[in-house]
Amino acid sequence: MKEVVSVALPKRRHSKTRGRKRRTHWKTAQPNLAACPQCKHPKLAHRVCPVCGYYDGRQVIEVKVKEKKKKKQ
Ligand SMILES: [Zn+2]
Repeated sequence: MKEVVSVALPKRRHSKTRGRKRRTHWKTAQPNLAACPQCKHPKLAHRVCPVCGYYDGRQVIEVKVKEKKKKKQ
C-alpha cells in the first residue's frame, strides 16, 4: 500500500490584486548613511568613503578626480 501524502494546497487562486495589495508593504530600508569623519560627506557606514578614500582615519583607496564631461556643441 502506498502512503497518501497530503500537501496543503490553496483552494482558490489569489487574484492579481490581492497579491499586489499584500506586496504594497514590501519596502526597502533607507541606507545607513553617516558623515565621513574626514570630509563630512555622507557615506555608507562601514565602507570606504567614495569622496576622499579614507577609512579608519587613513587613506585606503585613491580617488580619481572626475573631469567634467565636455558636451558636444
Ligand atoms: Zn570622506
